[in-house]
Amino acid sequence: MRDTDLYTRILGIEAPWQVSVVEVEMASREVIVQVKRKAGVKPCCPVCGKESPGYDSRWRRWRHLDTCQYKTILEANVPRVECPEHGVVTTSVPWAEPNSGFTAMFEALVIDWLQEATTSAVSRLMGLSWNAIDGIMQRAVKRGLARRGEIRARHLGVDETAFKKRHDYVTIVSDQSTGKVLHVGSDRKKAGLKQWYESLPKSHLQAIESVSMDMWPAFINATLESVPGAEEKIAFDKFHVAKYLGEAVDKVRRQEHKALMAEGREDLKGSKYDWLYNQANMTPEKRRDFRALRDSALKRARAWAIKELAMSLWGYVSKTWARKAWKRWLSWAMRCRLEPMTNVAKTIKEHLWGILNAIVLKVSNGPAEGLNSRIKTLKVRSRGFRNKQRFANAIYFHLGGLELYPAGISR
Ligand SMILES: [Zn+2]
Repeated sequence: MRDTDLYTRILGIEAPWQVSVVEVEMASREVIVQVKRKAGVKPCCPVCGKESPGYDSRWRRWRHLDTCQYKTILEANVPRVECPEHGVVTTSVPWAEPNSGFTAMFEALVIDWLQEATTSAVSRLMGLSWNAIDGIMQRAVKRGLARRGEIRARHLGVDETAFKKRHDYVTIVSDQSTGKVLHVGSDRKKAGLKQWYESLPKSHLQAIESVSMDMWPAFINATLESVPGAEEKIAFDKFHVAKYLGEAVDKVRRQEHKALMAEGREDLKGSKYDWLYNQANMTPEKRRDFRALRDSALKRARAWAIKELAMSLWGYVSKTWARKAWKRWLSWAMRCRLEPMTNVAKTIKEHLWGILNAIVLKVSNGPAEGLNSRIKTLKVRSRGFRNKQRFANAIYFHLGGLELYPAGISR
């Protein structure tokens, strides 16, 4: 087999193209593969596909997969056509996407590596600039988002995740059934989320069955204003409610601890975290101590009991019964004279409608929180992101469930 035939075959070059010359440059450790169009085949306009008269042609180069560790470059003289409808346009080649300096197979390889390693690591590995690798990643995401088609998620999760500093957040909308990120918003304001909702077809907004979230006014209002019947669909997440109650119990503990220290009682020192743990995680001995403390008439025991009762009220199936139980809980919590607890109780009272929705819809932000921790891992791995656009790109790339490969490549 001649080397040109060999390369035609291994590169998967198809008619009317064929490999005409293969040159090995020992000094630069490069293989240059020249590809030529068969004479007599008329070029087509890449937009409409109609055969069009040739205009001129230009030499172009693409980096391809290495040949035995030699950098392999494809070269071709690519015709431009003059289409009566679309003017002068460069014809497309089957091995690369328009405007890319890499063959589709090379881009697919970089995409594979990017799943495993950071942009910097891949750029070192491939001997390419950081920007070149980032460009491949950006194109992959763009391609994936364009291919994604209509979003049909019925159970959404809306959450925020910190970008760089505290108080700088992005909004993450995910599909609760597939765990895929659907949207990354550049802040956590109402307008951004509303805009995203409005980009969806009306029929889909209608079909949304639940939107799980924290009690964040911007998310609540955006959803109320955009999703039909949102009053019955917004679900305030159990874990966020648990977090607020847990923080309030801790606050009660600290206030009481201060008071006790002033009285010279140190018996409660060092048990800060016990109150936040499940009893199930404790040794029998610890559990005994814990029970003794819990059963004592201390304020924090009361606070703890209030929290525990609230957490046991998520199993209802009927909204009516759930409402009755929560109303009883609220009247207890509001009268407990422990300020941190009554504060959370007030918040819960205002948001009870969405808590009841979460209970009967049986949804939580669990899946979104799982995504959140994967996003944190991404951030740690790449030591932060220079800007939000890059951050969003990485989230879509890794967690968007997108088809990232160039056309014609599937694995
Ligand atoms: Zn055309």
